[in-house]
Amino acid sequence: MTEPSRTEADPIYTKPLPHPNDPETGPFWEGLRERRLRMPRCSACGYVRWPPARLCPECLSPDAVWEDLRPTGELWSYIVYHRAFHPGFKGDIPYAVGRVSLDDGPSLIAQVTPPLEGIFVGARVEGVFEDVTPEVTLLRWAVVDGGRPSGQEAH
Ligand SMILES: [Zn+2]
Repeated sequence: MTEPSRTEADPIYTKPLPHPNDPETGPFWEGLRERRLRMPRCSACGYVRWPPARLCPECLSPDAVWEDLRPTGELWSYIVYHRAFHPGFKGDIPYAVGRVSLDDGPSLIAQVTPPLEGIFVGARVEGVFEDVTPEVTLLRWAVVDGGRPSGQEAH
């Protein structure tokens, strides 16, 4: 008896993964698992430290509190990968990676969900939380409402 042919995608995640127990970024990954976007805000000056750092780059204070930010913003720019720089991404090409200016301050780089035709600089985006393993959830950016700022109608 032969093995049945496989029709579903390989369930094993083959792309590089973050370290969710890293002491500096752990709360960020923990937040994504809970469908929350969390970043450390400096207790002394209010600056949101992204990427996380032991000392505030603005005032050098070591004190910070992790707080929730809205997972929404505007696509500042993006690139489209036509080659896989890691074998795990071969099935995804071409795919887009974008830098988003969050409505609550800092910028965050992540993959932008297809279709590529709907992605443009200045598009309104929101975070999509994708569970890639039982321990790791990643954030993706998705263009919302055709990417137009709220209040503007399509023509
Ligand atoms: Zn500070």
